[in-house]
Amino acid sequence: MTILVTGGLGYIGSHTVVELLNNNFDVVIVDDLSNSEKFILKNIEEVAGKKPVFYPFDLKRKELLSQVFDAHQIDGCINFAAYKAVGESQEKPLDYYENNLFTLINILQEFKKRNISNFIFSSSCTVYGQADEQPIHESTPLKTPESSYGKTKQMGEEILKDFATAYQKKVTLLRYFNPIGSHPSALLGELPLGIPNNLVPYVTQTASKIREKLSIWGNDYPTEDGTAIRDYIYVVDLAKAHVKALQKLLNETSETVIDIYNLGTGKGSSVLEVVGAFERANHVEVPYQICARRAGDITIAFANADKAERELGWKAETTLEEALRTTWEWQKYLESRS
Ligand code: UDP
Repeated sequence: MTILVTGGLGYIGSHTVVELLNNNFDVVIVDDLSNSEKFILKNIEEVAGKKPVFYPFDLKRKELLSQVFDAHQIDGCINFAAYKAVGESQEKPLDYYENNLFTLINILQEFKKRNISNFIFSSSCTVYGQADEQPIHESTPLKTPESSYGKTKQMGEEILKDFATAYQKKVTLLRYFNPIGSHPSALLGELPLGIPNNLVPYVTQTASKIREKLSIWGNDYPTEDGTAIRDYIYVVDLAKAHVKALQKLLNETSETVIDIYNLGTGKGSSVLEVVGAFERANHVEVPYQICARRAGDITIAFANADKAERELGWKAETTLEEALRTTWEWQKYLESRS
């Protein structure tokens, strides 16, 4: 089986490519390197002991995409290629809609034209907004996301549902909670691009003294320690869920499938708990200051991921501390390269 992985050199994409190769799938990566680097390809090969095919281009270039489908018998796609910076999406909404949705439609047009099924979409818990219930189930009503990024995820889901229904296709929407950590080999992880917005990259850079202090955005939330709560899921666990979801789709006998799964640990952790776990796991200090709340942040979001366990036989296995230990190893690796 040959799987097209768009954004396969990115953070979650690269970990998933390794898991696919480990499970004997052939992988064709398309990635424009806008948020990755070529050495990740070499590192994937080193970790998996196998070589994925790689095409460096922007998926908006339809003719190049079509050539990939001409050259390979594609059996399915996992679509990671997308812009993902929440703040930036507010400043450049058109770029986000264009990049995240045009590229998705271009791939789906090829699927339709060539009668290919099996599409897995990287969605996000951001589609739930500030949910009225916790934990969040797949059936929890969606709300309009705060950011244009979040809206591209919600719109992407709608496009895929219509695609599956109209053309009898098999589609899985995976709603990630907060992915963290790096590969145990320390050869794959999230590449730093400017000042990190996300908590764990900022904590990591503060521990390594690239940043002076972590700003904790608010300690007046209605939670036990006053800081906001999220569900931090280890990236390798997350990558493994994609393989399970793909195997389920490939084994489906119905023509039309629309599956939706939350991928999280089922456990919420506060910002202060993450800082404490990082310090304990790595025996380092993370200086911080308490600041005002960040605009658009919600108080709490954590998953009920029972459906993924029931239907995919998947469950998050790695502890927060263990995940944060891998992050620190990756940071040391990055520093050894520079
Ligand atoms: N956060 C923080 N300081 C930072 C970055 C994040 O206190 O420098 C908090 C943020 O307010 C949120 C949590 O950490 O409560 C997770 O934020 P992140 O941006 O990683 O993910 P998301 O907001 O998408 O859940």
